[in-house]
Amino acid sequence: MSVITEVEQVVDALRAADKLLLTTHENPDGDALGSLLAMHLVLEQLEKDAAMFLAAEEFPLPYEYRHLPLTGVLNAPPADLDDRVAVFLDCGNIDRMPVDFLHGDGMRIVNIDHHHDNTRFGEVNLVDPSASSTAELVWRLAKELGAELTPPIAEALYVGLVTDTGRFSHRNTSPEAHRMAAELIEAGASPHEISRQVFESLPFRRLELLARALARVERVDGGEITVTQLAREDYLETGSDEHDSEGVVDHLRSVEGTAVAVLVRELLGEDRAGLRKVSLRAVDWRVDVSHIAREFGGGGHTQAAGFTTDLPVPELIERLRREVGQQL
Ligand code: 5GP
Ligand code: MN
Repeated sequence: MSVITEVEQVVDALRAADKLLLTTHENPDGDALGSLLAMHLVLEQLEKDAAMFLAAEEFPLPYEYRHLPLTGVLNAPPADLDDRVAVFLDCGNIDRMPVDFLHGDGMRIVNIDHHHDNTRFGEVNLVDPSASSTAELVWRLAKELGAELTPPIAEALYVGLVTDTGRFSHRNTSPEAHRMAAELIEAGASPHEISRQVFESLPFRRLELLARALARVERVDGGEITVTQLAREDYLETGSDEHDSEGVVDHLRSVEGTAVAVLVRELLGEDRAGLRKVSLRAVDWRVDVSHIAREFGGGGHTQAAGFTTDLPVPELIERLRREVGQQL
């Protein structure tokens, strides 16, 4: 099935629906939230009832996305759920939105995503791994739907684009990504203001958490793997929450000789004691970290992937060494 056909199918599905329920993945990042908001605004322009849903546990949203005008997001199933078409954005598989009512048999699902390992769980799927971000797909759809790129839509899309391309530095930074950026700027998005909001003006605790992570960096196998850890105490003592470690792993990528950067962090919450979230980043094409993440039950992109594990750290590092070694 060609991508063109998928775009047409999704456009038809969106046009045909009057009531929708938009959602994304748990622990939403910039692309997830930017795409969610932009899609909502586009559909609103088309006079659709396009409610947004995020689980109550996601609030407060990560600090860097607080300026996104995500008002009116539902935390519970709407009474008229059966009348709504669900639209999943940036969600590689349905279990990344672990909310039972969205998994019901009768649920009509439109799946819009750019993860190459997307399981195509929708009735209609627009899955394009060549897209820099899900925001890029929403941008394409907005044009197909004839929506006007208003400043709020442009800003939301820019947040998705700039975060998922790692500020226009990852391999997904295509000519199209830059063309999209140019168009969004023309439509009213301010790269400077958005960068200030998303990457700077962060709470001091973030820097304290980063300092702890950097102080504990280890280099394994001659530096091919650069790894660090954050423990529950680090979060508690700095007053941080789990979102505050977003971006930490990217600092480890910058070290010469590194093939894979790894952050192992303990999950917070009583029910998650003993569980660790592992973030993997590949610095170039040599290692596909999504392959490694899948071996542990997670997933992601070739250059950025993750999983959750109950393995003790030494065993985890040994397995990561083997997995990375097999690819190098
Ligand atoms: P992060 O390391 O920033 O949490 O996640 C990086 C990327 O890996 C995300 O964009 C997402 O695509 C993917 N990812 C992270 N954790 C998981 C997981 O538990 N399961 C799956 N399928 N993908 C994940
Ligand atoms: Mn994305």
